[in-house]
Amino acid sequence: MPNKIEFANLKKQYNLIKKEIDAAIKKVLDRGEFVGGKEVEDFEKEMAMFCGVKYAIGVNSGTDALFLSLKALEIKTGDEVITTPFTFIATAEIISNLGAKPVFADIDEKTFNIDSKEIEKKITKKTKAIIPVHLFGQTAEMDKIMTIAKKHNLYVIEDTAQAVGAKRQMINGKWQMAGSIGNCGCFSFFPLKNLGGYGDGGMIITNDKKIAEKIRLLRNHGSSSKDKYRNLILGINSRLDTLQAAVLRVKLKYLNRWNNKRREIADYYNKELKKVKEIIVPEFRSKNHVFNQYTIRAKNREGLKGYLEKKGIETKIYYPLALHLQPTFKYLKYKKGDFPFSEKASKEVLSLPIYPELAKKEQDFIIKSIKDFYKKNK
Ligand SMILES: *Cc1c(COP(=O)(O)O)cnc(C)c1O
Repeated sequence: MPNKIEFANLKKQYNLIKKEIDAAIKKVLDRGEFVGGKEVEDFEKEMAMFCGVKYAIGVNSGTDALFLSLKALEIKTGDEVITTPFTFIATAEIISNLGAKPVFADIDEKTFNIDSKEIEKKITKKTKAIIPVHLFGQTAEMDKIMTIAKKHNLYVIEDTAQAVGAKRQMINGKWQMAGSIGNCGCFSFFPLKNLGGYGDGGMIITNDKKIAEKIRLLRNHGSSSKDKYRNLILGINSRLDTLQAAVLRVKLKYLNRWNNKRREIADYYNKELKKVKEIIVPEFRSKNHVFNQYTIRAKNREGLKGYLEKKGIETKIYYPLALHLQPTFKYLKYKKGDFPFSEKASKEVLSLPIYPELAKKEQDFIIKSIKDFYKKNK
């Protein structure tokens, strides 16, 4: 048996595409251009094409992508933004950082994504935007969310950090890329995302020319590349590194293949783990999930996690504490019991290793170990 199965293994992937990556990095070094430039522009064009949108703007991180989207949409003090309490902190943090108020709406128990029925209940005169998160790589109910947004005149910013390449089938039957449906879609290229760089990086996609132009200014101190020392609006430094763009251009070519592989692994986990009655496996419909995480609900989760650890299998809990109970959001005055499905999820979820390079025999060992645990712990 393998002695250790890591939760993620980025070296394995690098070794498979080492030649192309090394050549791409060398090209940047030889050219001596490290911020912006052709590599970034080309990557932006390629991502826009991949997502089926008009504009893509590279930025420093997924967090900045969310921050700059809200800033471009002029979300400010006194505004309310509705989002899910069951996500990574960044989603809600950026709302507070703009002086606006995060308003949480509970999740759907089956998908872990924000429940559109809960969103409507939270809308007030101050509500300006909704941030659905495509959690673990599975698309949120975008049709319903867009209908609500239209009815109440709200912006929709898709947190697509975990779902690059996932698609959503819309009411008209067409499959649309996650991130391309709302006013803005925000990506993260943090190394562990499905399209991960070798450092931080992020991107915003949109079909709105005005928003795109504004974000281009915001990410670069409010100045255009043509007239660097004329600052038109108040901005920040949030540019995408040239080296990261070069690496990501290589990886983008593999993304669909890698996402298919993740789905294959998820299919096999589902088929085997469905037989274990103490476990609830994720439900998904073909291309609507790209499995940044394969997350089960498990009875006696802590016991299972500890048992797997002893077997050399690393697992993670995303997320152990719902955001409305985080110390940093104490000022919002939420309390235990406010979002029962999110709180329940935080006590039951366990994410298993899933990456395109995970070997079949490693996966078999993980499955066997889980079955063994529940045989011993009835
Ligand atoms: C990773 C992630 C982010 C933040 O991206 P960074 O690039 O790490 O800043 C935001 N939202 C979600 C849901 C994420 O998973």
